[in-house]
Amino acid sequence: MPRLAPLIDTHCHVDLYPDPHRLADLIEAERTYCVAVTNAPSVFPAMEAIAGNKRHLRVAIGLHPELAVERQHELPLLLQYLPRTRYVGEVGLDYSDGKPQADRAVQRRIFEAIIEACDDAGNKILTIHSRRAEADVLDAIGKGFRGQFILHWYSGSLKNLERGIELGAFFSINVAMARSRRFDSILKRIPRDRILTESDGPFVRIRNEPVWPSSVAQTLAYISSVWGRPIDEVRATVFENFWRLLAGSHDDSQHPR
Ligand code: MN
Repeated sequence: MPRLAPLIDTHCHVDLYPDPHRLADLIEAERTYCVAVTNAPSVFPAMEAIAGNKRHLRVAIGLHPELAVERQHELPLLLQYLPRTRYVGEVGLDYSDGKPQADRAVQRRIFEAIIEACDDAGNKILTIHSRRAEADVLDAIGKGFRGQFILHWYSGSLKNLERGIELGAFFSINVAMARSRRFDSILKRIPRDRILTESDGPFVRIRNEPVWPSSVAQTLAYISSVWGRPIDEVRATVFENFWRLLAGSHDDSQHPR
């Protein structure tokens, strides 16, 4: 039997679990490649310390759109920390529950500034939130963005999905998405070489318990059923996609080995 490909979790809020140190140890022991996203620049150094020099854990610098108004003063801090990591997230836009236009304007200002800084830097990997704001997220990224980006928990229209694919987006799938039959039609439209997996723990829960990075195995089972392909093949495809995501840049200093 060939060895199974490692599991991939491109979006996990490691710092928001009750015991992040224990989770970081588990990630390393299970050899799941994991991107630990952060929701505010001020918590980035603490997450960096938790990750230490673990091989399988990378820390992303982020400013969550739902915190944009409250934490807008931390944008300079994000720009200051940006050279310390290749990964950026959780960032993006959220237009759900009728957020006031003024809030949306703040979100856009911050997201556009982050995109611009990442474009200047040229080798970043972004994990992006786009709920009800898919068109504006894609407008902000635009053509010729000098980096790679993942649309995390994509739930928009098929039209914007096509646009995202044209712009080079990857898509990370979690078990909560797999529960919605509506998502089947989205998944079928995404090219197989753009699919990644994420936990989005601890927000995503299974039987009232937060998922953790290796829970992405359940997402692989879902993709396997939609694609009609063996789960080990799907697992290998997601790993190859992750590898290609990393190779999409000129800087390979943070590639997993
Ligand atoms: Mn998230």
